[in-house]
Amino acid sequence: MQVPSSAVHTTWEDGDEVSDTSGGAVDNEDAWSDDKSDDGYGTDFDEGIEADCGEDGGRPHPRPCPWAPQGSDLPPSDDDGVNEGEDGENDEDDGVPLPPPAQEHKSTAQLVEEIKAQLQVKYAEVEREGQHTVRLNPSLFLSRKPTLRFWSLFEPADDINDDIMYISKTSRSKRLYSYIHSGVRHTCMAGTMRRAGLKETRKDNWNILWGKRPTDDDYVTLNPYQKINHFPGTWNIGRKDFLFRNLQRMRRLHGPQEYYFCPHTFLLPGDWSLLCNELEQNKLQPANIEQQNLYIMKPPAASCGKGIYLVRHPEDVDREDMEKEKSIAQRYVSNPLLINGYKFDLRMYAAITSFDPLRIHLFDEGLTRFATEKYKKGANLITNVFMHLTNWSINKKSSKFDKNMDADVDDTGSKWSLGALKRYFLANNMPWDKVWDGITDILIKTLLSIEAIVCSKVAMFVKYRSTCWELYGFDVLIDRNYGLHLLEINIVPSLHTSSPLDKKIKNVLVSNILNLIGVEPYDRKRYAEEEELRKKKRLLGFNSSLADHEGEKGRPRMARPSSGERSGSQPSNP
Ligand code: ADP
Repeated sequence: MQVPSSAVHTTWEDGDEVSDTSGGAVDNEDAWSDDKSDDGYGTDFDEGIEADCGEDGGRPHPRPCPWAPQGSDLPPSDDDGVNEGEDGENDEDDGVPLPPPAQEHKSTAQLVEEIKAQLQVKYAEVEREGQHTVRLNPSLFLSRKPTLRFWSLFEPADDINDDIMYISKTSRSKRLYSYIHSGVRHTCMAGTMRRAGLKETRKDNWNILWGKRPTDDDYVTLNPYQKINHFPGTWNIGRKDFLFRNLQRMRRLHGPQEYYFCPHTFLLPGDWSLLCNELEQNKLQPANIEQQNLYIMKPPAASCGKGIYLVRHPEDVDREDMEKEKSIAQRYVSNPLLINGYKFDLRMYAAITSFDPLRIHLFDEGLTRFATEKYKKGANLITNVFMHLTNWSINKKSSKFDKNMDADVDDTGSKWSLGALKRYFLANNMPWDKVWDGITDILIKTLLSIEAIVCSKVAMFVKYRSTCWELYGFDVLIDRNYGLHLLEINIVPSLHTSSPLDKKIKNVLVSNILNLIGVEPYDRKRYAEEEELRKKKRLLGFNSSLADHEGEKGRPRMARPSSGERSGSQPSNP
C-alpha cells in the first residue's frame, strides 16, 4: 500500500483537531509534541541504527533461534535490495564472542551461565552504544516464529533470561523491521518502535502501519508480515452518529436492558422535530438542570470538545449550523458522579486482535479527566464549558487547570490515572467492581454491534488472519448511582504525552500492544523471491507447498482433475 509521503511527517499544534481524509475525526486531544527524551536515546530518526539479522546467527542465543536467517539461507549478494544506502554495511561482527570450546568438565548449565554472563556485559554495551541488538519474544507454540520485543522506559529492564532471544548486527546488513505512520505520529509510539529496533520508513516495505484509517482496497495489497492498526468497517463506531445509530439498532434488537449505556441520541437534522418536542417540555419545568431534559450538541466527527454546547430550548440550537452539517443531540447526563465537587470522565483503552472470534484486551490502566470548575446546578451555568466538559484540551485553558507533574503521584491535579480512581473508590467504600464489570460489558456489547460488518469486510479484503489489530480509546461517564454512560469511541486515540503521568501510561500501553500483536521479522528479499516462485507455480499449475503460507486463511482449493479425468471429461468427438 502506498502511503502519501506528504502525510508522513505531519504534525499539529497542541490540541488541534485532526480530520481523517474521509471527514471523520481523529482523537488528537493531546496532539503530538516533539519530545526527544521519550526516545530514550535522544537520537534522530533519520540516523537511526537499523536492526539487522545476523548472517551467521550473530551472537549466541540463550535459546536456539531456528528461523533466523543462517548463512546458507541468505542470498549470496551483499545487496539486500531493500533500503539500500540508508545505512552503511558493517563488516565487523559485533556479536558476543562465543565461549571457549566446551571443556570436558563443564556442564551445560555452567556453559549457559557463562553465555548469559557474557551477554549481560555485551548487552550493557549495546545499551550504551545505541540500538545494535533486537530482542525477540519466543512463541509458546513450536510452529510459530518469535516476535520482536518492545519495552517502554517505564518497565523494568528485562533480565537476561531464557525467554529472550537476540539477533545482532552482523556483516550482512539486513534491515528486517520498519514502521510507518500515516499522518498520526506520537513520540511514545515512535520511541517504543525505535527502542525495539524499528526504523521509520516512507517505503511500502513496512512491518507496522500505525495511522489513520486505510481504504478497503489498501488491505488487499498487504503481505503476511504487515500489521495495520485498523480493521475495515470499524468506522461504524468511530464516528459519533454511526456509533449511536448502531447502538440504537442493537437496543431495538436486544432490548434496553442490554443496551442501557447509551444516552438517548437524536441524529440531526433528520430528528429535528423529535428533538424540539423533547425540549419544549423544559418550558414547563423549573430552571434547574437536574430536572430538565438537557441535551448536548456535538459534531459527529470532531474531537477535543470542539463545537460542543448544551441546549435547553429549541432556540438554543444553532439552526444554521445544524442544517448545514450533520450533528447529534445527546441527552445530557446531569447527575454525574463528583469527586471533590468536580465532574470527571474515564478514558479507557482496549486492543482488538480479532473480530472472528472477538478478542478484546482491556488495558487495566487509563485516565481520569476532571473538569476545572466545581459542578453546580444552576441552569444559567450551562454555558460554562469548564464545568460541564472534561476534555483536557478545553480545561487546560482554564486558570484553574492543575497539571500533574509527577507520574508516581497519580491522584492529584486535573488528570488522574485509572488506578488512582480505583484506590479512591476502594478507600471510600464505593463499588469499583460494579464499575469495572460495567466497563467490560459496555465494551463487549459495543464491539458486537459492528461484528457482522467487520467480519464480512475482513473476509472480502484481508488475506491474512493477523494483519489487522486496533486500539480503541473509549470515554465513559459515571453517574451518581454508579450507572455508566458511553460517550464516544476513538479509533485513533491520542497518544500524546502532555504530562509525566500521560507519558508513563501511554508508553506502557504502546509497548504492551506491540508485544501483543506480535511483529515477526522477515527477510524482504527472500519473501519477494518466494512470492515470485509461488506465483510462477500457481501459473504453471504445480501443487506447491509454498502456496500454503502458514498465516494465510484456509481457502478451499478446487481439486485439479488428473490428466485421466481431464481426458475422460472431454466430450467425445462425434
Ligand atoms: P469529544 O470527542 O469532542 O471529546 P465527547 O463526546 O467526548 O466529545 O464529549 C466531550 C465532553 O463532554 C466529555 O468529556 C464529557 O465531559 C462531556 N459530555 C459529552 N457527552 C455528555 C453527556 N451525554 N452527558 C454529560 N456530559 C457529556
